[in-house]
Amino acid sequence: MPDFPQPPPLASHGPARIIAMCNQKGGVGKTTTTINLGAALAEAGRRVLLVDFDPQGALSVGLGINPHELETTVYNVLMDRSVDARAVVQRTAVAGLDVLPANIDLSAAEVQLVGEVAREMVLARALRTVSDDYDVVLIDCQPSLGLLAVNALTAAHGVIIPLECEFFALRGVALLVETIEKVQDRLNPRLEIDGILATMYDGRTLHSREVVARVVDAFGDLVFHTVIGRTVKFPDATVAAEPITVYASTHAGAEAYRQLARELVARGDAA
Ligand code: ADP
Ligand code: MG
Repeated sequence: MPDFPQPPPLASHGPARIIAMCNQKGGVGKTTTTINLGAALAEAGRRVLLVDFDPQGALSVGLGINPHELETTVYNVLMDRSVDARAVVQRTAVAGLDVLPANIDLSAAEVQLVGEVAREMVLARALRTVSDDYDVVLIDCQPSLGLLAVNALTAAHGVIIPLECEFFALRGVALLVETIEKVQDRLNPRLEIDGILATMYDGRTLHSREVVARVVDAFGDLVFHTVIGRTVKFPDATVAAEPITVYASTHAGAEAYRQLARELVARGDAA
């Protein structure tokens, strides 16, 4: 596996490149990748905003936020033009890593947005005030291809698609790519697929290696060289409400996300 150079320090910050973490399948590592890639980029001196765009609020919980105690969330920023995202953003324990939290309130947005003018562009508008303050914004999408996902894709410059290394990994990806192409065509011509990320890789099994080979056959250079191994340290870090780069800083799982951060910068997909 090639190594990638340590990203050079940045002299100034922003405007952000916005990346949506997207796969309509649940449990593939979207939230884990958003938290840990974000933490690794912050460790490299980037200013990073994580947007929790799943009503389950797993990203917020994974960063130590109690979603039931939130007065305002991304939902309010979407639905009320007078609520500035900057007033809702919270700091995390990691320097340079902020979060726009969510809770179950967001589940109402999908229905309520249907009647809005330019309903696909509401998140893009909501992020406009904050995106100059950050180098990277990562949006943790919910497992669906509904209006919230379309909002994330419309706000984004790039998409990262995490795929779990298991037999049915590629099932549904054609539909996701079709959705991305429709958004490119109708709403957001700048959108590109930044990469496909193999997660929960178990190098001891032929099966994991076969899945990665099949994904590379299908997507070629789009597949990140960095592969995220399967380890219980990830769920453990979630319980501890810390990124793995903090919870188990020297563990291979932390190193993998640091490498992904370096690869993303080396590809020109992040500052
Ligand atoms: P998604 O957001 O796509 O639903 P998550 O990131 O929440 O997926 O991951 C689903 C579950 O798998 C979580 O319990 C998480 O801790 C665990 N997990 C994620 N990545 C890994 C990994 N590389 N190794 C082992 N477990 C993982
Ligand atoms: Mg998730």
